[in-house]
Amino acid sequence: MAAVQRLLRAAASSSSSGAAAATGTRRMTGFAGAESRGRRPAQDRNVQWVFLGCPGVGKGTYASRLSRLLAVPHIATGDLVRDELASTGPLAAQLKEIVNQGKLVSDEIIISLLSKRLKKGEEKGESGFILDGFPRTVNQAEILDGVTDIDMVVNLKLREDIIVQKCLGRRICGQCGKNFNLACIDVKAENGLPPIYMSPLLPPKNCMSKLKTRDDDTDEVVRNRLRIYNEMSQPVEDFYQKQGKVLEFDLPGGIPESWPKLLQVLNLEDQEELKLATA
Ligand code: ADP
Repeated sequence: MAAVQRLLRAAASSSSSGAAAATGTRRMTGFAGAESRGRRPAQDRNVQWVFLGCPGVGKGTYASRLSRLLAVPHIATGDLVRDELASTGPLAAQLKEIVNQGKLVSDEIIISLLSKRLKKGEEKGESGFILDGFPRTVNQAEILDGVTDIDMVVNLKLREDIIVQKCLGRRICGQCGKNFNLACIDVKAENGLPPIYMSPLLPPKNCMSKLKTRDDDTDEVVRNRLRIYNEMSQPVEDFYQKQGKVLEFDLPGGIPESWPKLLQVLNLEDQEELKLATA
């Protein structure tokens, strides 16, 4: 995929210009790949979607469900960062400090991790993607725009007080790596806003004793991540709004309420039925 090569070149050219600030505020220049040559038309490839939304809103949950339904890879840059953190690679120590403060990793590092992941997928014959957690800065969005076409941007929305509760309830099984949530959200209707109920996503018995909380899911760090999201990533919504690509989706509740509605607005109900029928 020519786009991967161009993304790799973007990462290389940005690193030669020095490390970007941890919050990603510095603009990368010299990106060799802003030309649109080599882009495959949407009808010749799988979907290329982006999921936006605050930390903890549920991007991973819905992006991974859609990725299974559409048979395209779900690529979460947060997972790429955590894999790197778990490794003994040279970046691990540097990343740990940034991530545990709730700050953004530099555009240079994140693009390099994403490029490597896309290249691996390309070698395995993957086509299309659902990106989760990328782009998170306008600079990242511009770089992505320079290398490939994004068909649609799904912007998940949920009240901030609920987001905090959800982040604090998140747990990962240290053995199987699956994500769970212990928070039970039960917010009554008030000030014209509808009630919201989200049942906890409890682990099976054998995962229960192996549950871990992410180091960056403390109250203080979650609030910092939300602040950074509003500052750095909100403009990404505007970037895609201007291109007319954004599908806003207000989560009406937990998975049982939200998933069918999301399929409906994405016109994918038939696909789900087909999958169930052939499963
Ligand atoms: P969240 O729950 O905040 O959506 P993620 O799992 O997506 O968390 O990401 C975890 C951390 O990885 C982020 O707080 C940030 O430090 C880093 N990270 C992930 N994606 C990006 C990105 N696109 N740009 C910069 N940093 C990123």
